[in-house]
Amino acid sequence: MNHDINDIKEKSEYCLNCNHKPCKNACPLGNDIPRFIERIRNNDYEGAFKVLIETSIFSPICGRVCPHTKQCQGSCVRGIKGESVSIGELETFIGDMAIENGWYDKVKPIKENNNKKIAVVGAGPSGIMAAYTLAINGFNVTLFEKQEKIGGILRYGIPEFRLDKKYIDELEKLLLNLNIKIECKYSFNGQAELDCLKAEYDFVLLSFGANYSSKMNIEGEDLDGVYGGNELLENKDFPDCKDKNIAVIGGGNVAMDTARTLIRLSPRKVSVIYRRSRKEMPAENKEIEAAEKEGIEFLFQNNILKIFGNEENKVNKIECIKTELVQKEGDTRLSPVNIENSNYYMDMDYVVMAVGSKTDERIMNKLNLEKTKWNSIKVDENHQTSDEKVFACGDLAGGKSTVAWAAQEGKEAADSIIQIK
Ligand code: SF4
Repeated sequence: MNHDINDIKEKSEYCLNCNHKPCKNACPLGNDIPRFIERIRNNDYEGAFKVLIETSIFSPICGRVCPHTKQCQGSCVRGIKGESVSIGELETFIGDMAIENGWYDKVKPIKENNNKKIAVVGAGPSGIMAAYTLAINGFNVTLFEKQEKIGGILRYGIPEFRLDKKYIDELEKLLLNLNIKIECKYSFNGQAELDCLKAEYDFVLLSFGANYSSKMNIEGEDLDGVYGGNELLENKDFPDCKDKNIAVIGGGNVAMDTARTLIRLSPRKVSVIYRRSRKEMPAENKEIEAAEKEGIEFLFQNNILKIFGNEENKVNKIECIKTELVQKEGDTRLSPVNIENSNYYMDMDYVVMAVGSKTDERIMNKLNLEKTKWNSIKVDENHQTSDEKVFACGDLAGGKSTVAWAAQEGKEAADSIIQIK
């Protein structure tokens, strides 16, 4: 990516270097934002990289895909009376400089090898960050991944138009330079595999995420033509979309990524149906704006009630209803309530469910680990499970589902293992 250095410098000058660092506090990874921006101001780009890598190896990626306006940039004091500092852009600049100049190649372990072996299962953001943190602290790490390549959601969820996969290849180079063993196409099916890993490794860290689309349990959800957003993005096995009407249900990143991928496949129309208003959409505004420019229709404060099929059980129509938002006692955000008699129907060829993600129940049910009522793995504040040799982090342990939050959980879980004497 070409960066305009004068523009970057100007944007770095705009930072006030606030003492109380609200931007840092709002960054899930705790990146020392004013400190790295100060290094940019002083033309010390490698110094800026060194500040960022204290907390994150994901700069070229987070700079591009993090919802900055909901995290660091959303807390920037410059934003109170005008525009916030372009933190994401500055981070992207440093991340790209690091790749171009080989700064990641210079990263070395900070501790001697301790001969302890750790298995990390799942190479998405949390597994990658955990493997890195353990390796630089002297552990022998094997990173297991079910897919052909590492990256998890970064490679198999976020579409190419939003994130070039070369950045994940760079991460892989960094992990290999730190002598992390990477075993792809590894099949983890439950307790039998966990027992094998426990016999061979000092600790096992589970971080295989929650990549299965949740259902809404409405009538017609099993019809031919109803898809899960996660599965479509992961397998890239798209139906013929030419001249089709497609409804994407949901308002988060998976909904946006799916809708924006489908609009590129020449449909007649892609409509995103979301129960709350635009303001409450978990996806970032710049994503919504990009989607609107691409021709995607947004039906805010609308809810799907039922999916109808033809005699071949193929989707041909949906029933929707309008909603109003009400403040319910004890709820932190407004709740959508269906407005009586506001039902309407839309002709539809496909419906994509992107209302949430869940773990692979077949694996979860075969694990003899304590679970929560949501069927995620129960962990304590150190990410330790009911088995003291097993840790878990990220979505499968009920974590928050952004890249930076997942990475932070991986780091925390790794730190807990490092603390064990
Ligand atoms: Fe700079 Fe904004 Fe952070 Fe203040 S809050 S240090 S202005 S980026």
